[in-house]
Amino acid sequence: VFAVSGGGLVAYADSKSDGYESSQVPTKKKVVVLGTGWAGMSFLKTVDSSLYDVQVVSPRNYFAFTPLLPSVTCGTVEPRSIAEPIRNIIRKKKGDIKFWEAECFKIDAKSKKVHCRSNVGTNLDGTGEFEVEYDYLVIAVGARPNTFNTPGVAENCHFLKQILHIFVQEIEDAQRIQKAALPNLNEEERRKTLHFIVIGGGPTGVEFAAELHDFVTEDLAKLYPNIQDLVKISLIEAGGHILTMFDKRITEFAEDKFQRDGIDVKTNFKVVKVSDKAITMTNPSTGEISVPYGMAVWSAGIGTRPIILDFMKEIGQAGRRVLATDEWLRVLGCNDVYALGDCGTINQRKVLEDVSAIFQKADRKNSGKLTVKELKVVFDDIFERYPQLELYLKSKHMKDVSDLLKDSDSNPGTESIELDIERLKKALSNVDSQVKMLPPTAQVAAQQGTYLAQCFNKMKERDENPEGPPRIRETGRHRFRPFRYRHLGQFAPLGGEQTAAQLPGDWISIGHSSQWLWYSVYASKQVSWRTRFLVVSDWMRRFIFGRDSSR
Ligand code: FAD
Ligand code: MG
Ligand code: MG
Ligand code: MG
Ligand code: MG
Repeated sequence: VFAVSGGGLVAYADSKSDGYESSQVPTKKKVVVLGTGWAGMSFLKTVDSSLYDVQVVSPRNYFAFTPLLPSVTCGTVEPRSIAEPIRNIIRKKKGDIKFWEAECFKIDAKSKKVHCRSNVGTNLDGTGEFEVEYDYLVIAVGARPNTFNTPGVAENCHFLKQILHIFVQEIEDAQRIQKAALPNLNEEERRKTLHFIVIGGGPTGVEFAAELHDFVTEDLAKLYPNIQDLVKISLIEAGGHILTMFDKRITEFAEDKFQRDGIDVKTNFKVVKVSDKAITMTNPSTGEISVPYGMAVWSAGIGTRPIILDFMKEIGQAGRRVLATDEWLRVLGCNDVYALGDCGTINQRKVLEDVSAIFQKADRKNSGKLTVKELKVVFDDIFERYPQLELYLKSKHMKDVSDLLKDSDSNPGTESIELDIERLKKALSNVDSQVKMLPPTAQVAAQQGTYLAQCFNKMKERDENPEGPPRIRETGRHRFRPFRYRHLGQFAPLGGEQTAAQLPGDWISIGHSSQWLWYSVYASKQVSWRTRFLVVSDWMRRFIFGRDSSR
């Protein structure tokens, strides 16, 4: 049934509910999106909002381009350049998308509604609380900084995620630096004030330390020539190296460069306490030490939002760190709820757990024996369902299933070789070692948002034609391909116009040329032409005039 909705757009009505009268307005399914970060925003940009009644709930009324946050903190890029108002994005969409500037504090999957608290105003009962009903819920609330319950961190450290907000509200950190130049502080006090400590040697901590170093040597030194010698930057990492998620060559290059730059990289140091004056840390050889500091930035890992912790208890996922979903991003343990980005993780099926189903599927004649040929027929499905298989074949430089059998069998034979289930098990026995958790990155979140929106856009078509391609396990048939992550590479900006890049196929590039690659990729990934223009002009202005350190 098609009809014209109030907005003059063609709306889709559920074809299964018969007996519509022409006067009735068809009801669209209600999709509620929690969060306007990477996952929520990419879902929103892709979803066909004329098919659904879309409502968005988020306490932030803008999307923040997080990869450029470290640049914002040091004035390389302006805050407004990386913040895209939600309204701008919604305005470009069809249909009527509602945005609630509010925080969701409870998800009620049983009665299919979410409880929210308004950010901006209060309703009649004075609490600002309201409920939103959904047919489908997309949870994309992201993660929060993890302090690992280290005493004093929450009170005394800055968190990069919140820094944009801080800058938007104009706060004192830049002034603190200027204060340090004032003559009424003695040298020891100045050194303490100008000691910046970054905790966490992951990509964001490293990038922030690098940006800070550039800022001090290039810009601050011009304003306050004698300050540079007093400034110290320390990078604290609990593990043995920084940037461990990158190739060893990049890690080494970064550690060397930081050492040359005078950034004090302290590996194997674990922060145990932070007071307003000093950071206490332990190291196996030095024991406990306390270091005075002026400003500390905590970037040591991500944790779970309280709303997700409560929800996991509700649906039998208690004790987990993130919401478990299947490969279609459906939250396990409830219906019509999806989780994307940092707040969810795909519970990847193991090949070995499903091996009998795979066998039965391929053994059409039900003979208990399988030829390689028969196996090859279902292999595409297996391949799609279990990404670890592709990774395993790649790691062993194998081409297809027959290589796998040859590898596990001393007497491989030909295409017509028959295997029983034990032999198949043996052939697949190491494949699950390649199961990988997807990292909490913008790249994963954005791809998941786009994927899910595409599924939603096709849902109508699939409802009418449920016979999609055959799939393994469960009902035997799934209507959509499972989510597949495509890794496009990773950057680690190291300061001084140098960037390390690790691209697929272990292609490594370090130096000035990758800095240009970084500029162009981040310019192209901007959500709108407005922010793209602003970011690029910020970069150009910086090339010509230096950073805006007047703030
Ligand atoms: P987020 O982007 O965090 O979005 C969560 C959204 O949910 C926000 O809009 C938030 O306001 C909203 N929200 C929170 N609580 C509620 C609630 N109760 N109800 C409703 N809405 C709520 N990744 C990269 O790939 N490359 C990088 O270079 C990179 N650099 C980074 C630099 C920094 C400083 C940081 C902090 C992260 C960086 N990341 C980077 C990681 C990347 O930002 C995250 O992986 C990504 O943002 C995850 O997307 P998300 O949508 O799951 O969560
Ligand atoms: Mg999001
Ligand atoms: Mg974000
Ligand atoms: Mg996040
Ligand atoms: Mg995730």
